[in-house]
This record gives sequence, structure tokens and C-alpha cells, in this order.
Amino acid sequence: MTTDCLFCNMVSGEMAVEKLHDDDLCFAIRDINPRAPVHLLVIPKIHIATMRDVQEEHGPLLGRMTAVANRLAEAEGISERGYRLTFNVGDEGGQTVYHIHLHVLGGRQLGAEG
Ligand code: AMP
Ligand code: ZN
Repeated sequence: MTTDCLFCNMVSGEMAVEKLHDDDLCFAIRDINPRAPVHLLVIPKIHIATMRDVQEEHGPLLGRMTAVANRLAEAEGISERGYRLTFNVGDEGGQTVYHIHLHVLGGRQLGAEG
């Protein structure tokens, strides 16, 4: 955990945020700047700066994050119609917060670039 990281500050409680889901490995919030009618973020509790840093040992964490994303998509009513799960990686990948997070986007027809 690093104190200058937005998402670590949400984990520690230093920054208050409404959580849609919270377990031992990850939590989920609504994106503050939604690009679709449903735009959620599933965020691990451990600090991993980018998906480039992910190793095989992180498999259970990524599995949990994906299962949580799928459950939330169901709860938001977008599961049947379809949705997008995205990790942005690095600057040209569109990453702005350097603590990995899984975007859950849906509720409208998404184009090739979102
Ligand atoms: P990325 O650009 O892939 O790193 O995604 C970072 C996301 O975090 C963006 O979609 C932002 O809108 C979102 N975001 C930034 N600050 C907050 C915040 N305080 N609460 C919720 N979402 C945030
Ligand atoms: Zn962090």
C-alpha cells in the first residue's frame, strides 16, 4: 500500500467511497466519470501498479475480480445484453490511475474503442 495512491487510500478508509462490493481481496465502486450508463471499477486491495506487473501467482485475485465483475453486471441488469471488461495498461493504453482496476462498462452498444 502506498499513501499517495488513490485506490490504496480507498482501501485504508482514508478516502471515503461508496462500495458496491467489498471482500478480502477486492472491492468495487462506481466510476466518478462514467463513459457508459453502467461503469464500475473492481479494484484489488493490494497495490499492483499495472497489469504489466501481474504474475501467475495473482491468478486467484484476477479470478475473484472477474467473478465479482460478472456478479455486479448481473445485479446492474446488463449481463444478458453484454458488457465490456477492460484493463488499461500504461500511458498509451489509457491508464491514468496506477493501481490496477477492472472496468465494467455497459448499458449501451459499445463501439470498437468503447
Ligand atoms: P484508467 O484511466 O483505466 O486508469 O481508469 C481510472 C478510472 O478511475 C477513470 O475511469 C476515472 O474516471 C476513475 N476515477 C478517478 N478518480 C476516481 C474516484 N475518486 N472515484 C471513482 N472513480 C475514479
Ligand atoms: Zn495503490
